Amino acid sequence: MDVNVEDIINVGKNLYNQGLVSGKAGNISIRVKKDDIDVIAITPTFISLNDLKPEDIVLVDLKGDVLTKGNPSSELKMHLSIYEVRDDVNAIIHIHPPYATGFAFSSKKIKRLEGFGKIGIPFLEEIDYEPPGSSKLAKKAIEGLGNEDVLILKHHGIICVGDNIKEVESLAKFVEDIAKTQFVSHMLSLTEDI
Ligand SMILES: [Zn+2]
Repeated sequence: MDVNVEDIINVGKNLYNQGLVSGKAGNISIRVKKDDIDVIAITPTFISLNDLKPEDIVLVDLKGDVLTKGNPSSELKMHLSIYEVRDDVNAIIHIHPPYATGFAFSSKKIKRLEGFGKIGIPFLEEIDYEPPGSSKLAKKAIEGLGNEDVLILKHHGIICVGDNIKEVESLAKFVEDIAKTQFVSHMLSLTEDI
């Protein structure tokens, strides 16, 4: 099976170096469709996205059976559930970037800005908290995501999905940027001279 794990490693380093993920948090996966079989390449558990080596990337099938060695991310269920229902999705990033996650830990919603998706609703979709790695989180995530490309997980982080990993990487950066912009504009409006 020919899977380009270098793409995952590069994106992991980019996300880490841009401050979008830290410690050993976050997970990335891609789907490779070959004949009738979907193979998912996913980052492992307990290794920083900044330190990944090709042999660390775990290959699984859609049922979650591990095809190589290693322990897949604890959010494997969430990734698989999304691939199961979204045939258009071939890459997923889940991270806890500081500004977007700050919103997720507050009652404030992140406004949609022009640049991705259709502007049908004013805020990014979000779902209530479920424990990380749980089946409940996986189930709520696919319901909340619907046909969207971004989902805010309250009291946790964000999920971005798309056709390819580079596209999803820029989407993740974009979500963090709009959260930062909204935060800055809110703070400035609080301190404006009367
Ligand atoms: Zn998480």
